[in-house]
Amino acid sequence: MAPLTREVLRTLADFWSGGPPVVSVYLDVDGRRHRRPLDYEAELRRLLRHAAARARNDNGGGADERARRWRRAHLGRGSWSREGAAPLAKDLARIEHQVRQGVDRSRTRGLALFSCTGAGLWEVVELPVPVRNQVVVDRAPHVQQLELVLEERERVGVLLVDRQRARILVFELGELVDRSELFDALPRHEDDRGDWDRDHVADHRADAAHHHLRRAGQVAFQVFRGQGFEHLVLGGPEQVVSELERELHSYLRDRVAARVSLPVGAPDDELRRAAMDVQDTVRADRQAVQVRRLRDRVGAGNGAAVAGLGPVLGALGERRVHGLLVSDGYEDPGWRCASCSQLAARGPSCHRCGASMDRVDDVVEAAVEEALRQGCVVNICVGDADLDVLGRIGALLRF
Ligand SMILES: [Zn+2]
Repeated sequence: MAPLTREVLRTLADFWSGGPPVVSVYLDVDGRRHRRPLDYEAELRRLLRHAAARARNDNGGGADERARRWRRAHLGRGSWSREGAAPLAKDLARIEHQVRQGVDRSRTRGLALFSCTGAGLWEVVELPVPVRNQVVVDRAPHVQQLELVLEERERVGVLLVDRQRARILVFELGELVDRSELFDALPRHEDDRGDWDRDHVADHRADAAHHHLRRAGQVAFQVFRGQGFEHLVLGGPEQVVSELERELHSYLRDRVAARVSLPVGAPDDELRRAAMDVQDTVRADRQAVQVRRLRDRVGAGNGAAVAGLGPVLGALGERRVHGLLVSDGYEDPGWRCASCSQLAARGPSCHRCGASMDRVDDVVEAAVEEALRQGCVVNICVGDADLDVLGRIGALLRF
């Protein structure tokens, strides 16, 4: 198991089997949607059956139209030889075995697995963000979803304080990337016995505590300048946190995304979860903004956005799409032009070049892949009623 890094992505992207099949599987294991492991395991079995069935058809000699279409869509050139079937079965079994061994879902919401027994590739990447379920068999790993996750990565700082301690941790993609700690001992009562009166002691302690929070703010700012983070989570007793907030540099105050009631000594795992929750909220808010933008632009009718399957596929073919929004779980059969690859909701002849089109099992999936290939921002929206009303798919256009 590996966390996602640039290096992991580069290694995968550079891999080419030269013959044997490479299986890439993305699996959503998000505990908020799949309460029991059985739920995502069933989904995985469905994906793997799909891959095996497609490969079987492919080995059948190429007469099968469905296999031919799939080959064109997924394999690019050539077809699998009969020798390809045995390694493929091994790859699929290895992937299923790995997932059934269990997933630490306190920190993992998506899995990406890459297997090629025939050429010695085996990589399991745990992601702190959900992914779209997908299986691809090709001669190279299918890394588009990983690229998307890396592109969207942001850092979250978690700053915890009490009257004499402060800790700041920085997380990126659920991994701890930096930590700093500060301890300013408060003056103790016993030391002051007899010399100072009670009020004096109290004042002195308040000053020291104030000084400590100011220092905590300074340390946080140093970490911010050194490591950089987009969002900040504050934790500690309510009173102390609001005092701390007044001491923070305005750059940091602007980045406060959440306040949590965690003690300064909370275990790293709890802080990681707080950081991941913030990322989820930020992502959901951002998606809601995108959907609102889509709705407004479609409503304005000025051509800056389109909604519904047919218009979106048309815009993709013209390479006008900047951002694609799709409701999670939306599938629809459609068509792909045999000549110019244009996708369409209706067939059988291509409105662009007039050639005949082939049926595609799920043209929404094909549209997402095409959008990723074109470098569009792709948002898979969960439970967004506004997007559903717009036809479950929409696109913000470049021009
Ligand atoms: Zn065409």
